[in-house]
Amino acid sequence: MGRQVDFPLIFERSVPGRKGVLPPACDVPTQPLAELLGEQNVRLEPPALPEVSELDALRHYTRLSQRNYGIDIGFYPLGSCTMKYNPRINEKVAALSGFTHAHPLQPESLSQGALQLMYELQQDLKAITGFAEVTLQNVAGAHGELLSLMLIKAYHESRGEGQKRKIVLVPDSAHGTNPASAALCGYTVRSIPTNAEGDTDLDALKAALSDEVAAMMLTNPSTLGLFDRNARKACELLHEAGALVFCDGANMNALVGVVRPADIGFDCMHLNLHKTFSTPHGGGGPGAGAVGVSERLVPFLPVPRIVQTSEGRYALSYDHPQSIGRVHAFYGNFLNLVRAHAYLRAYGGENLRTIGEFAVLNANYMLARIRHAFPPAVDRLCMHECVVTAKHYKQQYNVRAFDIAKRLLDYGFHPPTMYFPLIVPECLMIEPTETESKQTIDMFANALLEIAREAMEQPELLHNAPHSTPVRRLDEAGAAKNLILRWQGMVIYPQEVPACAC
Ligand SMILES: *Cc1c(COP(=O)(O)O)cnc(C)c1O
Repeated sequence: MGRQVDFPLIFERSVPGRKGVLPPACDVPTQPLAELLGEQNVRLEPPALPEVSELDALRHYTRLSQRNYGIDIGFYPLGSCTMKYNPRINEKVAALSGFTHAHPLQPESLSQGALQLMYELQQDLKAITGFAEVTLQNVAGAHGELLSLMLIKAYHESRGEGQKRKIVLVPDSAHGTNPASAALCGYTVRSIPTNAEGDTDLDALKAALSDEVAAMMLTNPSTLGLFDRNARKACELLHEAGALVFCDGANMNALVGVVRPADIGFDCMHLNLHKTFSTPHGGGGPGAGAVGVSERLVPFLPVPRIVQTSEGRYALSYDHPQSIGRVHAFYGNFLNLVRAHAYLRAYGGENLRTIGEFAVLNANYMLARIRHAFPPAVDRLCMHECVVTAKHYKQQYNVRAFDIAKRLLDYGFHPPTMYFPLIVPECLMIEPTETESKQTIDMFANALLEIAREAMEQPELLHNAPHSTPVRRLDEAGAAKNLILRWQGMVIYPQEVPACAC
């Protein structure tokens, strides 16, 4: 990022006959491929691969790696994503051969260490969330949402109410995965509005309640970055109506060591170990979830459950007749569980609270620095992230949040989350996390304030941004809808395509 380097694609570097490696002559008898594989399975022409030297190939991959932006390169303020620093001790522990070479079909007697680790992680997450039991089987946040709804469905079915309860309530500020998970689980989704103070609108909730409602999916802190002060009341109302409440706990960062969601009244929640508990993520890499449940959902948890026997050994327990079964092969993404365990042990129980406290302090400091230029969507103390609007720049200077995000690239920063939650116009959602220093937050805030000045004085600078990146503004809708992954001997990235609607 930052420096404009124009280097040819590896295909363009290709010179016929140039070789990267010279393998020794084959000294075993060969058989024509067509005989081995069948005529129809063998290509007539060799594939059109680039012909380059070893040095060209090396430079190609090294340059590509330098074009990546990641948390190890710079600040990553993506709200709702919790891009915190992933301590290297986690990686060291996850790379221990005892963990990497463990086979999921090894007998329990040879897997005691792995089972103990998962058991301890379950115990830690129970203590942090306040729930009666935790499963580690889900491998993403959305997967945890689906798993939670499957548990809720099994609960209603066990009471003979499965047919009747067909509706899941979801706030209008929710992450898109919430309604998607509910729909995937066969539910009809009803949207519940957020009130002017950023809390769940209790009157609208009351009006939506009936004996057809199976559950509500609530996010707390909400995606407005606010603690939903009506969450406890909402749980009471849902319970009175015979329904259960799921908490989207992807953003647990503000609460760790401060609030136990089970105490608010939730029946279940998912945690994103790959956000709050510092497993590297982004780009769809392997995630790890965990789902905590209250007593009434325990019988339905997936099997196998990881338990401690009366002799103090660790075992996989399958004998749970009401279980919904498996939701993943084996036991979840094990090495991510190792990372989360290492992270929690490195902090230690007493220090966990500092995660929540510093996450909230950093987000409020960020907001205090930028609020005169980017007012908050709702003017309250924020939690782990602040949600601000750039709508006045759009109204007065035709500069959108999108343009501001693109201009941030010129300042060397990854942009924050934009246009989410959907209820905030020209929205920027900034989550510094607890691992960033005051100096880094200041640098980012200064860049945003500088860009706000540019928006008023030279709006065209923002309309055409970024200016200093290897690739200029992309046709984002085109890139998503007409994905070209294969080199076809043409320019893949159109230059300076006008901004598209998001
Ligand atoms: C990230 C996130 C999710 C989804 O988590 P995945 O692991 O990406 O499936 C759900 N809800 C919220 C609020 C999130 O921030």
